[in-house]
Amino acid sequence: MEQLIKDNIRDVPDFPKPGIVFKDITPILKNHEVFSEVVKTFVDRYRKQKVDAIVGIDSRGFLFGAPLALNLKVPFVPVRKQGKLPYKSVGVSYDLEYGSATVEMHVDAVKKGDRVVVIDDLLATGGTANAACELVARQGGKVVECAFVVELAFLNGRQKITHAPVCSLAVYG
Ligand code: AMP
Repeated sequence: MEQLIKDNIRDVPDFPKPGIVFKDITPILKNHEVFSEVVKTFVDRYRKQKVDAIVGIDSRGFLFGAPLALNLKVPFVPVRKQGKLPYKSVGVSYDLEYGSATVEMHVDAVKKGDRVVVIDDLLATGGTANAACELVARQGGKVVECAFVVELAFLNGRQKITHAPVCSLAVYG
């Protein structure tokens, strides 16, 4: 699985700014067999566990989180960047390299005691995923695991995610 993912990721140097190598996952989406294999790997992993909802992070987390939720027959919950959600929301802010960002979730999205998986396409510094976990915790939910297709291990994002274990399918050291 790891090699299949790496074979279907395109490195885009200097995007969105100089010095960043962007890991473009669109080749995975373009190949339905690969896309399906990736989703199936997550489905198999969480089918055996009690999971009440999948929480996907804006925006590429939706691409993997929504089919995962459908396959597991559980609700899909979007965590979005500030100001995007239409209903009453709760927010958590976190530090970026320069400044800060806020992620939000609808107040009724996760119920007390819900066991959820938080999913995104890529784990970089871990700030976004940890803020999403914090949102779940504030609603009384428990994060079973944080799941990623890709992990940039050299950024040590795992260490920032204090709420739950991390699972990533392809790791760049
Ligand atoms: P972070 O909070 O630093 O872990 O950033 C994670 C978010 O930024 C994820 O939603 C990723 O999609 C995106 N991201 C950060 N760095 C990259 C990268 N090098 N390539 C692709 N996406 C990235």
